[in-house]
Amino acid sequence: MSFFQIDPKLRELCEQAEQKALPRFQEIDRIAQYNSEKVLAAFIQNGVSESHFTPSTGYGYGDRGREVLDEVLAQIMGCEDALIRYNFMSGTHTLTVALFGVLRPGDRMVCLTGTPYDTLHSVIGLKEDASGSLKDFGITYEQLDLKEDGTVNYEAIPQAVKGAKVAYIQRSRGYSLRPSLFVEDIEKIVKQVRSSNPEAIVIVDNCYGEFVQQQEPTQVGADLIVGSLIKNPGGGIAPTGGYIAGKAKYVDMCAQRLSAPGVGKEIGCTLGNTRALFMGLFFAPTVVASALKTATFAASLCELLGYEVTPKSDEARADIIQAICLEKPEALIAFCEGVQKGAPVDSYVTPEPWDMPGYDSKVIMAAGAFTNGASIELSADAPLREPYAVWMQGGLTWQTGKVGIMLAAQSMLEKGIIKL
Ligand SMILES: *Cc1c(COP(=O)(O)O)cnc(C)c1O
Repeated sequence: MSFFQIDPKLRELCEQAEQKALPRFQEIDRIAQYNSEKVLAAFIQNGVSESHFTPSTGYGYGDRGREVLDEVLAQIMGCEDALIRYNFMSGTHTLTVALFGVLRPGDRMVCLTGTPYDTLHSVIGLKEDASGSLKDFGITYEQLDLKEDGTVNYEAIPQAVKGAKVAYIQRSRGYSLRPSLFVEDIEKIVKQVRSSNPEAIVIVDNCYGEFVQQQEPTQVGADLIVGSLIKNPGGGIAPTGGYIAGKAKYVDMCAQRLSAPGVGKEIGCTLGNTRALFMGLFFAPTVVASALKTATFAASLCELLGYEVTPKSDEARADIIQAICLEKPEALIAFCEGVQKGAPVDSYVTPEPWDMPGYDSKVIMAAGAFTNGASIELSADAPLREPYAVWMQGGLTWQTGKVGIMLAAQSMLEKGIIKL
């Protein structure tokens, strides 16, 4: 029996695509096993207990669950301390707290991975309208552009970071076509930074990268890593939030900024959110594995359909993002409509291209998520402009992620965009 109408020839092609991806699936499972053991050991060694889930109110003084959750995350990330809070409203907010936490007027921040993620532009002050930006507070910004092929300009790093307070690295490609950085690449960058500026604070935007590899950037010399809980480390269960992890003195500076100077980590009631944050972290390695399999399968299928994809289905991955060049606007629309049809929430909605603020072209998005905006759940975004690429990510379970991708291909088939 079949619950979804998918052309038998397409099903056959999907079977072939999955077979082709099996060696990568084995590697993904191997990493998920390692990371699951790492997470479980951290829970056990820190004595996580039901009492830690007790909601606190008001100031939240002495909330033991909050403290243990920080300790568990620090152990998982292999660093001294962490600040994981539902109070962070988004990844951008978390990155903002980290930057304002460690930078002071007159300081310079240098981004070593080209143009940073769109939402950071206002934070840095790259846009004129950004009141309250780092620039507004007298913090200057410089950027080391990527090379033609999208890789980091390693040789130029020592010169670029001379005298800088913060060396900033974005691990994920975000919505660009440059390759995402492996932890090994970040290690290389850190070495280059230290060679000319040992005092620089290396901050990594770790969004979409958590649990994709066995190590995290904090284990190869990064001073702070930052991420969102509605992406990888929330495991699809955290309802909102973010984290900062790394060297204790810098995490403390961020905590002073998040709450108030002199108060830092001492306050912050949890209102009953701690259980979901623990549980999400517990699930995260397997959920990330599902997202990686979904992305790998999508790459494999689209390769068989003749499309250019990055990364390719047989390549190692540094984050959960998959870009697919679908060549035509109609193809982007059909793909996103199909993904939406396979969502557990709002499947009946038809996504429409719209003028999204900050974009110079229309954008179409497919997202039918339990958590608003959660991109650890299967989702796809495509600006309707050259090179007509869709960026997709997420998949809480591999089995349902696969259905989403099959329905995307079915939708393209029905519109006559692909032929079998
Ligand atoms: C998602 C993301 C952000 C910002 O997170 P929001 O939750 O959308 O504010 C920053 N950097 C990268 C690389 C991201 O993927």
